[in-house]
Amino acid sequence: MDSAGADWIHIDVMDGHFVPNITIGPAVIKALRPHSAKPFDCHLMIAPADPHLEAFAEAGADIISIHPEAGPHLHRSLGRIRALGCKAGVVLNPSTGIDFLPWVMDAVDLILVMSVNPGFGGQSFIDGQLAKVEALRTMAERQGLAPVIQMDGGVTAMNAARCVAAGATALVAGTAAFKGGPSAYAANIAALRGLG
Ligand code: ZN
Repeated sequence: MDSAGADWIHIDVMDGHFVPNITIGPAVIKALRPHSAKPFDCHLMIAPADPHLEAFAEAGADIISIHPEAGPHLHRSLGRIRALGCKAGVVLNPSTGIDFLPWVMDAVDLILVMSVNPGFGGQSFIDGQLAKVEALRTMAERQGLAPVIQMDGGVTAMNAARCVAAGATALVAGTAAFKGGPSAYAANIAALRGLG
């Protein structure tokens, strides 16, 4: 994925409690770290997240994103991520509103809009979430801020342009990037960039 043109490596961490699946934890991220020169963008679908933030930072995370439902003090948790030397992200499930965001925007480097319900790969993109991206972009501009706005879930070459038009500045792709095996990665990523 590094040589195929990915900008970041997005790592979905699932705990079998906050989301149905169990994936990987800090030990595996630490083992992966020497094999990629790209930033590690760690999406924590775990609750609670606070007790584990330091372990993910030490494992080599560059960005740590958390769900507001994962703990009672989101602003504090985001500040803790930055204090550990990482960029801080907040993740919005399809059902999560955005009214709270102006109150934590100063602590946020990245906002991740889930375009599927988190927990599994290979799900279909929820079109309605594009309106949330548009609203977030307007909200951030009103505050004079420019956080990364990321979309995750069901992103493909077919809907990537609509995500970007809505205001997304980072696209996460699992199935669309990995399909066809290693020989297809570069073409898959080029297609997501609109170069296919
Ligand atoms: Zn993710």
